Amino acid sequence: MHDTRPLKEKLSQARKVVITTHHKPDADALGSSLAMANYLRKKGHSVQVITPSEYPEFLHWMKGNDGVLVYANETKQQCQEFINEAEVIFALDFSVLSRINDLGEMVRAAVAYKVNVDHHLEPEDFADFQYWSTKAAATCELCYELILALGDESAIDADIADCLYAGIMTDTGGFRHPNTTKNVHEIVAQLIEKGANNAQVSKNIYDKNSHERLKFIGYALSEKLVVLPELKVAYFAISDADQKKFNTKTGDSEGLVNYALSIEGITLAVLFKEADGGVKLSLRSIGDFPANQMATQFFNGGGHKNAAGGKVDMSLEETIKLFLEAIKSYKNQLEEECEKV
Ligand code: 5GP
Ligand code: MN
Repeated sequence: MHDTRPLKEKLSQARKVVITTHHKPDADALGSSLAMANYLRKKGHSVQVITPSEYPEFLHWMKGNDGVLVYANETKQQCQEFINEAEVIFALDFSVLSRINDLGEMVRAAVAYKVNVDHHLEPEDFADFQYWSTKAAATCELCYELILALGDESAIDADIADCLYAGIMTDTGGFRHPNTTKNVHEIVAQLIEKGANNAQVSKNIYDKNSHERLKFIGYALSEKLVVLPELKVAYFAISDADQKKFNTKTGDSEGLVNYALSIEGITLAVLFKEADGGVKLSLRSIGDFPANQMATQFFNGGGHKNAAGGKVDMSLEETIKLFLEAIKSYKNQLEEECEKV
């Protein structure tokens, strides 16, 4: 599908490589980054992974995590130097440079050969080499295929397999979403063959709840879930005060939106969360309902058809008001999807 010869040629000698991934990295973002970092190091390259923001502790087990540089005011200079000096930059699991915040313009300006491996819609044209497919369930799936295409299947060891497995497992919702194709199962079978400890990876990711987090989820479910059955919509609105009350940490609200989507008859579920003086949204939908289109049109965001996000500089109340207006224009699509299922 892709001609990988130009990349193979580029990597035919030891290179200074920077790998970066999207804001608030999830298991696919960090898994693909650390899988590629471990692979490229094995091939003799010197690799620095830079993330635009911190990420949850339940991802810290991945090999190479200790060397990740998290962009912040204090590390800005250091990140800039790595990017300036890089000969190759891998941009993984995002398609537009604005997804990596301030790092985006640094990457754009860099002289390095740029590689984009991703499965999101409408990639921005910033890369010299693109390995991209929206049919892939996860960027980790594409990274696996890319390593094979580069002729390096034997370089995939148990640590790399664990990282790749993590991203595929989470981006398919634990092998439950419609993106869980035959190819996905074949790849994860190969990863297990190469030593991925699938039971341990899923324990590391899904069973790392703190008592406080469970109390927060319980509170959100009993006090904060709003269901609008006639509109086929359910949502949570979580304020700063709610987050303070339960001392929530990065990742604590991860997956919360899925509870709203699990209600029978719901087509669209949203989590609104106060963050950085504005509101961060997570949208999830079923069937053909275009959550990404709604996120782009109303909430400065984007993403996949069934999983999208955005951010607005408004109060929580104003955001909900805007959302209730927004769903009016999607009324027919909301109803149609539910009838199909
Ligand atoms: P989450 O709800 O897990 O934060 O994000 C779900 C998906 O929506 C992500 O995989 C990403 O594709 C997309 N997404 C989330 N936030 C944003 C955003 O602010 N802008 C854009 N363009 N996409 C986003
Ligand atoms: Mn992904």
